[in-house]
Amino acid sequence: MIEKIGVSYGTLTVLGLNNAKPLVRPATAHFMLGENCIYSCKFCAQGRGSHSAPHMLSRVTWPQVSWDRLAMPLAQGIASGEVRRVCLQVVEAPGAVPAALALIRQIRKISGRIPISVCITPTSVSRAGLFLEAGASRVGLPVDVASVRLHEQIKGRSFQDAWAVLRKASQLWPGRVSTHFIAGLGETEEEMVRCIAKARDLGVTVALFAFTPVKGTPMEDVLAPDIGVYRRIQLAAYCLSRGGSLDWIEFEAGRIARISIPNPELLREILEGRAFETSGCSDCNRPYYNERPGQVPMNYPRPLTAEEARNCLLESQLSIG
Ligand code: SF4
Repeated sequence: MIEKIGVSYGTLTVLGLNNAKPLVRPATAHFMLGENCIYSCKFCAQGRGSHSAPHMLSRVTWPQVSWDRLAMPLAQGIASGEVRRVCLQVVEAPGAVPAALALIRQIRKISGRIPISVCITPTSVSRAGLFLEAGASRVGLPVDVASVRLHEQIKGRSFQDAWAVLRKASQLWPGRVSTHFIAGLGETEEEMVRCIAKARDLGVTVALFAFTPVKGTPMEDVLAPDIGVYRRIQLAAYCLSRGGSLDWIEFEAGRIARISIPNPELLREILEGRAFETSGCSDCNRPYYNERPGQVPMNYPRPLTAEEARNCLLESQLSIG
C-alpha cells in the first residue's frame, strides 16, 4: 500500500474527499509523490532553499492521503467520466520514483484506458522510459525556465542538459512527451516563444504556466507576470500549437510586437478565446493553480465567454483580427 500520496485540493473535491464547492472542477486528478526536493529551483515550494508550508506546490496545497482511501473514489471518478486524466508530479526526493511507479500500477488495475501523465525532472531518458513501461501514457519533462541566461541561475541545473533529455525522449516516444514553461521568471517574450517553437518542432506538447510567487521560496517577492505579457505569449503559443510558424510573430526588443494569422479557422478560434484556455495535456485544466478564486484567470480552465475573450485580446495589446 502507498501510504503518502499528495492530493491536490481540487482533486480531493472531485473525489468527494472534501466539501469545497469550486466554480470549476479539475478534469485531471493531480497527485504528488515525495516531498522536499533535492534540487533548489528558486520558484518552487518543494525546493531545497524553500521554507514554504509543507505539502505545497505552486499555490496549491496537497494533503497526504493513503491509496486505501483514494482507490475507490478514483475508480468512481474515472467510471463516471469526471476524472478524465491522472497526473503524477514526482518530486526529486528519496523514494518518490518507486512510489510513483507503484501508484501507476495501482491506477492501471482500476483502468487500462485512463490517460496517465507523469511529470519528472528531465535528468535522464531511461528514467522517463521506466514510467512509460509501468503504464504511463505520457511523460512531462519540464524545462520551466525559457532562457539560457537564467535557467541555471534559477534552477541550478543546465539548460542544455534539460533540452538534450527532452529531445532524446521526443525521438524515442513521439507524441508522448510534454514540457512546461513558466512565464514571468525574467525571460523575454522572445526567449519564451522561441523555446515554445523549439519544443513544438520536437513534437513536444507545451503547457504554459504563469509564475506565481509562493511565500517561503527565494522568489517570494518577485511579481507575477504582467497580464499583457502573458496574453501575448498565450497567443503566440496557441498559433504555434495549431501549426503556425515563428515567421508569423514579430518581435521588437524582445517583446511580441505583431502576430499575423493567415489561417481564417485559427483566427476564429483565437477570437473565441481558445488561446487563453489552460494548455498542456488534454483535459488538464488546472483551475486556481496560478491564481486565487475570483481573480481573472491567467489560464482559463473552461471555454471563455465572448466578453472574456474580448478582454483577453485587449489585454494582449495586439491588434488581432
Ligand atoms: S500538462 Fe497537466 S497533465 Fe500534462 S504533465 Fe503538465 S500538469 Fe500533468
